[in-house]
Amino acid sequence: MSKDFSAWFECARGCGVKYELDEIVYECEECGGLLEVSHDLDALSTRSPEEWKQLFDQRLGSLEKINRSGIWAKREWVLPGVEEENIVTLGEGWTQLLEPARYAAELGLNDLHVKLCGNSHSGSFKDLGMTVLVSQVQQMIADGVDVPAVACASTGDTSAALAAYCAAAGLQAIVILPKGKISLAQLIQPISNDALTLALDTDFDGCMRIVSRLCKEENIYLANSMNSLRIEGQKTISYELAQEFNWEPIDNIVIPGGNLGNVSALGKGFRELRRVGLIDWSPRIICAQAARANPLYDSYQNDFKDFEPRKAKTTQASAIQIGDPVSINKAVDVLEEFDGIVEQASEDELANAAARADRAGLFNCPHTGVALAALEKQVEAGVIEPDERTVVISTANGLKFADFKVGYHRRELDDVEPRYLNEPVDCPDDYEVVRERMFAELEKR
Ligand SMILES: *Cc1c(COP(=O)(O)O)cnc(C)c1O
Ligand SMILES: [Zn+2]
Repeated sequence: MSKDFSAWFECARGCGVKYELDEIVYECEECGGLLEVSHDLDALSTRSPEEWKQLFDQRLGSLEKINRSGIWAKREWVLPGVEEENIVTLGEGWTQLLEPARYAAELGLNDLHVKLCGNSHSGSFKDLGMTVLVSQVQQMIADGVDVPAVACASTGDTSAALAAYCAAAGLQAIVILPKGKISLAQLIQPISNDALTLALDTDFDGCMRIVSRLCKEENIYLANSMNSLRIEGQKTISYELAQEFNWEPIDNIVIPGGNLGNVSALGKGFRELRRVGLIDWSPRIICAQAARANPLYDSYQNDFKDFEPRKAKTTQASAIQIGDPVSINKAVDVLEEFDGIVEQASEDELANAAARADRAGLFNCPHTGVALAALEKQVEAGVIEPDERTVVISTANGLKFADFKVGYHRRELDDVEPRYLNEPVDCPDDYEVVRERMFAELEKR
C-alpha cells in the first residue's frame, strides 16, 4: 500500500459524485451513468516523469512477484490503496509485442506491431482487469466487508478470468453464460476452476440484464466492466505500450470493441500518462467492430450524434457479439479525444485477415481478425500510412478459438470464402506415396 497516492470512484459524466473504492456501487446516484476510478494526479506529479520512467524500467527486470505482473508493476497508478498481501496475481501483463514483418510487408507497412494481450493466464486480456477487481475484493474482505460471491455475465473470456482469479483467492465465482454461444475452451475454464456456471437460454445482453439485477437485489459483487475497477487493469496496456516504445509516439492503435470497456481503458491510460507528463503525444485510436454487431460503427457514421442499441447477430467474433455496449459513453469520449475512427469487418473479412496474418507466424483469434481486417481497410483507404507506427491489439489467444480456426481451413464457416486454405494431405503408410505427394504439394506452393 502506498499512502502517498490515492484513488476513488467518480461519475464518468462529470456530475462530481464520488465514492470510496470499498463501497459496493457501480453507477452514479445523480445521473445513473458509469463511474470511473479517479487518481490524485497532483500526487502522482510530485515525482518527475523521469523518476517514474526509471522506476517502471527497474521493475521490468525485477524478479519480485508483484513486479512480474505488468499491472502491479504500475501499482501507484492502478490501485494505490491495496495492501500487497491482498493482491491476487496470476502473472498477467508484460505481454509480447511482436513485429509480424512478413505480414506488414504484404500490406506495405514499415512499422507494424501486434500486442498479444491475450497471451495471459486464462488466454485473454480480461485477466488484466480481473486481477485488479479481485484484489480489491480481497482488500474489502480483509477490511471486514461481507462479499459472499462475485458474479459476471460473459461472452466467455470474462468468466474464464473471473473463475481463475476467484479460485486462486478462494472466493466463490458465479458465471452467467449464453448457452451454446461460447467456445468449448471458454466453457471448460470456469467449470475447471470450480465456478458456479449458469448457462442461460439467451444472448449476452440477456445475461447482462439478469446478472445486473442479481447484483442489485442480492448481496453479490458484480465483475462486469460496468465495474470500473477492471478498466484500471486494462488501461495498463497503454502504459506498457508507451514504455515498450521508450515513451516515443505511436501513431495508430487498432483495437476490437464489443462492450467497449477496453477501448475506453486504452484512452484513459494515455490520458493519464499525458496529464502527469510521461508523454506529450496521443495516438489515433481505431475501434474495430464485427459488421454483425456494429452499433458503434453506425453511430460513428453519424458523428456519434445518436446511438441505437440493437440485437447483435451471430458472428465468429463471439466476444464482441454485443448490441448494447455498457461503456458506450466512455468509448465515444475516448474516440472524440483521440482522433478516433470506427471500422467494421464482415465474417469473410475477419476470417481471411486472421488467416492471412497467421501465415506470417501469428495465431489469431476472430476478434483480432476483426482488428486486422480494419487495419487492412484503413491502409487501403490511405488513412494509415506506410511509415506510421501502428499497433494492433490482439485480445485473445487463438488456441481458445480452435473451432473457428478448424472451420476456416475446412471451409465450414458461414459467409466465409477462405483465401488462405491449408488442408492436411491424407496419405497411406507407404514411403513412395508419401514422398510423391509431398513433392507434388511443394510444387504447388
Ligand atoms: C472482451 C473481449 C473483447 C471486447 O472487449 P470490450 O471491452 O468488450 O470492447 C474483444 N476480444 C476478446 C477476445 C474479448 O474477450
Ligand atoms: Zn453522474
